[in-house]
Amino acid sequence: MSRGLYIHVPFCVKKCRYCDFFSEARPTLAESYVRSVIRNVSALKERFETVYFGGGTPSLLSAEQIGRIISSADIESGAEISMEINPGTADEKYFREIKASGVDRISFGIQSFDSRELSALGRIHTAEEAVSAVLSAKKAGFENISGDIMLAVPYQTRETLRKTVEKAVSLPLTHISAYMLKVEKGTPLAEDEELLKKLPSEDETADMYLETAELLEKHGFEQYEISNFAKRGYECRHNLKYWHCEEYQGIGPSAHGFTDGERYFCGDSTEEFISKPLQGKIPEGKGGEAEERAMLALRLTKEGIPVTMFPQLERRSEMLIKSGLAKLDGGYLRLTPKGCLVSNEVIIYVLGN
Ligand code: SF4
Repeated sequence: MSRGLYIHVPFCVKKCRYCDFFSEARPTLAESYVRSVIRNVSALKERFETVYFGGGTPSLLSAEQIGRIISSADIESGAEISMEINPGTADEKYFREIKASGVDRISFGIQSFDSRELSALGRIHTAEEAVSAVLSAKKAGFENISGDIMLAVPYQTRETLRKTVEKAVSLPLTHISAYMLKVEKGTPLAEDEELLKKLPSEDETADMYLETAELLEKHGFEQYEISNFAKRGYECRHNLKYWHCEEYQGIGPSAHGFTDGERYFCGDSTEEFISKPLQGKIPEGKGGEAEERAMLALRLTKEGIPVTMFPQLERRSEMLIKSGLAKLDGGYLRLTPKGCLVSNEVIIYVLGN
C-alpha cells in the first residue's frame, strides 16, 4: 500500500489567539520554502496515494507554487490531494487554479459562524467570508469540501453552536470536523483571564459535543472518528492513514513522519528547512505497536477494535457497554458519542494492566 505525504506550510497572516501550531507571519520566505519542499519531495523515490497540505495556511502559497509542489511528487492516479484553506485567503479564481493543479479536497478552517466567537479566537475571517469561500470552492468545481468547527469557544452557548452547525450543514460541505478548543500553555488565550471566564463549563461542553454529534448525524454526516463526520464516501483518506497506523512521509518545519516502522520529526525551524539541501529527521521511536494501533483504532467510531485483541478486553468491555460508553458490534468494540467525550480515560482503562 502506498504511503501518504504530509506537507506543512508554516505561514499565517497572523497568529490566532489559541494557536500552538508551528506557523509564522513571514510570507517573504514562501518561494525559498517552496523550493526546499520540491527538493525534499523529489528526493523521495516513492509513489503516494494521499497528499495533504496542512499548516499554517497553505492558501498563502500561490496556485502556481502549489502546482509546482504537486508536479514534483510521484502521485498515483485517483489519489486524494487535500489542502487546508483559511476563508479570506482564497477566491474562486484561486480555487479553479488549484483544482487544475490536482487538488481535489478542500478543508476550510471555519471554526464558527458567530462574529463574537471568531473575534475572540483571533481569526482573520468573518462568518460571511467563510460562507462565500465555501460557495466559491463549490462553484469552481470542488465536490469534496470539509469545514472545521470549534466547540467550547469563549462566549459560545449551546444556542450559538447550534446555529453554527445548522449553517454548516446548509452549505455544500461533505465533511465536518468538530474539534474541542484546547487552551494551550503559552498562547495569548491562556493568558487572557477575562476571555477564559467566557469559556463554557465542562458540563455545557459535554452537552455541546453530544448535541453537535446528534445534529450532524441527523443531517447525514456520519461520525467516523471522535471529531470527524462525513457524508458517506467522503471520509478523509489521508487522515484515516494516521488512525489506521499506516505510514506517511512528512515534509516541512514541524512535520512528523512514519516510515519503516519508525516515527520522526522534521524539526521546527523554517530557516533550517530552507537552508539544508535535505531536511533533518529527528527519530521519535518505534511506531505501529499493538497498543498504539488499538489507541488510534478506538478513535474510529465505525471501526473500533476486535474484542479479542487483548486478553483483558472482553471483561472490561462489559463495564464500558453497561455505562453506555461503548458498544459491541460484530465482535468489535466501538465508542459511543458519550464514550468519545471521555475517550482518553476509556483508552487507559482498556489498555491498562
Ligand atoms: S490559521 Fe490555523 S495555523 Fe494559522 S494561526 Fe490560526 S489556527 Fe494557527
